[in-house]
Amino acid sequence: MSTIIKKEGFSYAFNQDACVTCAGRCCTGESGYIYVSKEEIFTISDLLKLSVNDFGVKYLFKHGYKYSIKEQVYEGSYECIFYDRESNGCKIYEARPSQCISFPFWDYFKTRVDELKEECPGIIDD
Ligand code: SF4
Ligand code: SF4
Repeated sequence: MSTIIKKEGFSYAFNQDACVTCAGRCCTGESGYIYVSKEEIFTISDLLKLSVNDFGVKYLFKHGYKYSIKEQVYEGSYECIFYDRESNGCKIYEARPSQCISFPFWDYFKTRVDELKEECPGIIDD
């Protein structure tokens, strides 16, 4: 049975089963920002058993007044440095940022459903 998620205020639904065969398109592809809050920086550092400073130097960069997780390029695709190609998963899943948890229900996509459908094969009309 499919796991369909809906959220109030959004005109689309999300079939979570699509993640199994998708190859992490929301964690790879075009370059983007993966913002982390101060609390999330502490949580991820803790998970990785790194000091906040070491974690920041190794995995983050500053964009304006925010911090974003670094990417690495693989065969022309910009992938989050925590994307695990082998398992098609997230290396910091338990501590992943809220930006990742809330995908694909971002305000940005409310008026850009076609763009979202191109990125995420799990998007279906509600
Ligand atoms: S792009 Fe969509 S289907 Fe693919 S992993 Fe991300 S949320 Fe799942
Ligand atoms: S932190 Fe995890 S879920 Fe978020 S973009 Fe990176 S690999 Fe994907």
